[in-house]
Amino acid sequence: MSDFVIAPVATPSLAVEGTSSRFPIRRVFCVGRNYSDHAREMGHDPEREPPFFFMKPADAVVAAEGNITYPTLTEDLHHEIELVVAIGKDGVDIQPEDALSHVWGYAVGADLTRRDIQAQAKKMGRPWDWAKGFDESGPSTPLVPVSKVGHPAEGAIWLKVNGVERQRGDLADQIWPVKDVIAYISQSVKLKAGDLIFTGTPAGVGALQVGDVVTGGIDGLSEFTFTVA
Ligand code: MN
Repeated sequence: MSDFVIAPVATPSLAVEGTSSRFPIRRVFCVGRNYSDHAREMGHDPEREPPFFFMKPADAVVAAEGNITYPTLTEDLHHEIELVVAIGKDGVDIQPEDALSHVWGYAVGADLTRRDIQAQAKKMGRPWDWAKGFDESGPSTPLVPVSKVGHPAEGAIWLKVNGVERQRGDLADQIWPVKDVIAYISQSVKLKAGDLIFTGTPAGVGALQVGDVVTGGIDGLSEFTFTVA
């Protein structure tokens, strides 16, 4: 028996690699610009700007496999390959030196973006939600627990479309490393177990077409392949 007036809403979740267990997703925070080469390609000076954040709905995160649906309202769907951090322990005002103790695991995700809608939003001073928060906009690999992968701080992060490399960077090139990102977010809200953080993308973002096969990975962590359908 339940007091809910409709069937209780399903909890979005990600698989945990190598197990039948799942990680429940609470919120999804995303870092706006976190690699200087990508900040420059989008027309910004990475030396002068503190980090900023936007969000996706929890159920925008889906398994990066099989078919991912090309969204409506865009003719310029972009790929952004990103390290995804899963928070396993609540915290407010977390200090950078304590921040990694709040991480449960890591995954590789794509922050899919309606770039034309985003450009219009920037021009008109409007929110990014319609550009960033559509259905299936956060395909991600299963999570790998810290007990297996540690805290990856360097290593190639890359994305290929139909076998052709589009993006390549290194985690070591993040302007704000994971510990700083966690510290910043926890100054604004209470970070909670179940929260995910998409930590930004290196240069080379570009358009996807229906039928494209997208492969992305972080060396030493994980990789995915999906088809745009
Ligand atoms: Mn992004």
